[in-house]
Amino acid sequence: MTKRVVLIGHPVAHSLSGAMQQAAFDAAGIDASYELWDRAPIALPDTIAEIRGDDFLGANVTIPHKERVVPLVDRQTEEGHATGAVNTITKEGRRLVGHNTDVAGFKVALDGLVGRQKMPRHAVVLGAGGGARAVVYGLITEGFQRIVVFNRHLHRAEGLVRHFGRTAAHMELKAMPWHESIIESELAKTKVLVNATSIGLTSDDSPIAGDVLRAELLVLDLIYARTKLLRDAESAGATTMDGELMLLHQGAAAFELWTGQQPPLELMQEKLAEARAGGLRSAEGEPAGDQPAVAAATTPVKSRPAKTTPVKSTPAKTTPATSARSAVGAGSEDGADPDGGAAAASSGPAGE
Ligand code: NDP
Repeated sequence: MTKRVVLIGHPVAHSLSGAMQQAAFDAAGIDASYELWDRAPIALPDTIAEIRGDDFLGANVTIPHKERVVPLVDRQTEEGHATGAVNTITKEGRRLVGHNTDVAGFKVALDGLVGRQKMPRHAVVLGAGGGARAVVYGLITEGFQRIVVFNRHLHRAEGLVRHFGRTAAHMELKAMPWHESIIESELAKTKVLVNATSIGLTSDDSPIAGDVLRAELLVLDLIYARTKLLRDAESAGATTMDGELMLLHQGAAAFELWTGQQPPLELMQEKLAEARAGGLRSAEGEPAGDQPAVAAATTPVKSRPAKTTPVKSTPAKTTPATSARSAVGAGSEDGADPDGGAAAASSGPAGE
């Protein structure tokens, strides 16, 4: 029986994961199909119940469901639990296990962005959704001492800070209101800027004005495209990276969880690059905006990519915004980071 793996999001039509995962299944000789399921939030419980069936190997979960899916799985791994967000589901019989492979993907991207520099200790994160939770957890476990989270709806950023209360008790994790002047003043004290909003995914907008960006910044945009934010950051002389490495490595980790096999990384990266060249630009679907009260699509969109003949691994192709620009010789964090690793009490109450 052909096994099924589904990507559940709303919408998902432009996801790049299909090309990457189907090619990986085919190359590994695994009889499985990767399907894109566009399901509105109201349809999520029924959708999750459906994947308990024997023909399903597991699922990916994407924008905007990563947090909503948490109470629908039977157990979570440490990272799923710590982040309060699930992007990958595996099966134990009919039981569902929630994982968060975005954390591993983010850490690979962060390492690539930082390059040979000393790992910074202060970061500004824009956004407070499922992706931002993986970013914040990744930064905390990398030893960051100060993380400031800005979000359009402040209460969501405050909820994120509350969630990480205990995990972040040794450092300073703050939610701040989205005001350009506050963002500018925080950026002046930090080294790492991560965009985990979906601004720039479907439009050529940037979450912040270009003139607040400095050459010393390391800027990661989770969106898999050369967004306006990244172009502005490059113009300011900053080091930049888009969401490709994170997407690739979260997908590779998910593949390993579903199949127990080593992921064919180079092939997966090649397929991502091909899909991108073919005009797809979103990392994981399109931003959903305000959610409709009823399911927008109850019929799953099963756009299974054509079977691919296994290909030999070729060296990964990189695009200008994919690889962090060489940071060798760039100044150490000390100059750019006046708070210099001083630990402070967490601003959030004890964790959930
Ligand atoms: P969520 O739906 O959970 O969160 C969306 C975030 O974007 C929220 O912080 C939301 O703010 C903000 N946002 C959306 N529209 C606007 C707007 N018009 N103005 C201001 N803020 C806005 O999505 P995810 O966290 O799952 O994904 C966020 C982004 O990260 C997406 O672009 C996704 O593709 C990317 N991503 C990439 C990954 C990769 O592997 N490269 C992995 C994970 C995510 P508010 O709460 O106020 O609505």
